[in-house]
Amino acid sequence: MRCPACDEYVPIEDWDDDSPFQCEECGEWIRLVIDESTYKGATDKYLEVVDE
Ligand SMILES: [Zn+2]
Repeated sequence: MRCPACDEYVPIEDWDDDSPFQCEECGEWIRLVIDESTYKGATDKYLEVVDE
């Protein structure tokens, strides 16, 4: 999956873990967003920059 901050590839180790982690390339804190409210019932997962 691509880092939303630097667009480098970030490996996802646990697709059910939404705790923040640091991108190795740019050092931004990002987290996996697990959105289970999509209209088809499919779970949408993407990365976002943690805003703190
Ligand atoms: Zn990055």
